[in-house]
Amino acid sequence: MMYSIWEELSFRNAPDLVVVGAGITGLFTALHAKLKDPHRRVLVLEKGPYPSGASVKNAGFACFGSPSQLLFDLDHEGEEVMLGRVVERWEGLQELRATLGDQAIGFEPVGGYEVFRGGDPLHGKVSERLCDLNRRLKPIFNQDIFRWTDERIRFLGLDAGHLVWNALEGALDSGRLMHTLLQKAQGAGVEVCFGRAVERWEELLDGVELKLAGGDVLKASRTVIATNGYTRTLVPDTDIVPGRGQVVLTSVIPGLQLEGTFHMDEGFYYFRHFQGRVLLGGGRHLDMAGEATMEEGSTPLIQQTLETLLRETILPGREFRIERRWSGIMGFRSQGGPPVVKRLSPHVVLAAGLGGIGVAVGIRVARKAMELVV
Ligand SMILES: Cc1cc2nc3c(=O)[nH]c(=O)nc-3n(C[C@H](O)[C@H](O)[C@H](O)COP(=O)(O)OP(=O)(O)OC[C@H]3O[C@@H](n4cnc5c(N)ncnc54)[C@H](O)[C@@H]3O)c2cc1C
Repeated sequence: MMYSIWEELSFRNAPDLVVVGAGITGLFTALHAKLKDPHRRVLVLEKGPYPSGASVKNAGFACFGSPSQLLFDLDHEGEEVMLGRVVERWEGLQELRATLGDQAIGFEPVGGYEVFRGGDPLHGKVSERLCDLNRRLKPIFNQDIFRWTDERIRFLGLDAGHLVWNALEGALDSGRLMHTLLQKAQGAGVEVCFGRAVERWEELLDGVELKLAGGDVLKASRTVIATNGYTRTLVPDTDIVPGRGQVVLTSVIPGLQLEGTFHMDEGFYYFRHFQGRVLLGGGRHLDMAGEATMEEGSTPLIQQTLETLLRETILPGREFRIERRWSGIMGFRSQGGPPVVKRLSPHVVLAAGLGGIGVAVGIRVARKAMELVV
């Protein structure tokens, strides 16, 4: 390929920072870096035609963990790790809302629930320990954050045994969030190139060489890899494994009273209202090995389980159709643990592995990545 002197000086000169992946982590990393030094040339390379990863496939919960999820974390990782994670999520959500604005991200302060079906063994475990969990979380929220609210089950139209309520969670519009973030990054001078998949990278003495699909090669002073569930393609020895999340959206349901964000079964199922419809996702635990994939798609086992959950628990006795089905790829640490923000080589930083509650922490993971790379 032959390039003009103008292309070479203005478009092909090595950027100071290349971020791979235009999800919430990548775009915030680029934005933080540009705001810190507006003279720095910051380029984001995204393989999709727009931000195309979990950040635009998720359920749009602005949440920090349901009681059964937090008790699981407490039992497996200890109090310090569990509380640290809640602080990161809670403060991350405040920062996200303050940075982009509630209206621009479609934030709705509708609260969050955990639903226990009749006879659910998790109910006994949670009811025994909810006071203790509230006591441990009180220094963060200055209040008892979770309380039983079984009297609302009927109003919400659920067929459930018990319900826990928490007033501080909410719902947001992930498409508007990402659109706003993209505009803000571009407005600050970040260059974002779509349809540019990075296939390989190589550490050089004075920077990084990136090999792009189609054969193009780009040099950068520094690089942040923010590819979350897809990280293995660029960092084969990573401990971040992909985890697919399948989602269904119903038709509009006349008279739907369901408002809020709802969790079940240690967070493995989640549902919420959206424009008179129900959005339901989850079921990955039914086939952990099969769902550890980077391929989008759906399986009869999980789709049928989601539909049964809608019919029997969420919308009992209501007519509905499934109008839309999709999936997204998350990135999980294979042994559990927080997102990874670490240097892979002198000029390359990895920021990935945000797990199932990444909307809340993306902005903070990005700041850590930016600090490490700058
Ligand atoms: C179904 C589902 C429901 C979820 N629900 C919630 C929720 O309600 N609340 C919540 O907090 N979190 C939720 N999450 C998790 C949350 O969406 C993620 O943790 C978060 O979006 C991760 O952001 P990210 O920027 O790190 O990754 P991503 O958004 O996945 O961004 C990575 C980007 O990198 C790009 N990319 C990958 N490889 C390459 C390459 N080689 N070259 C160039 N570009 C590349 C991808 O196309 C993608 O755009 C959910 C996730 C899923 C899948």
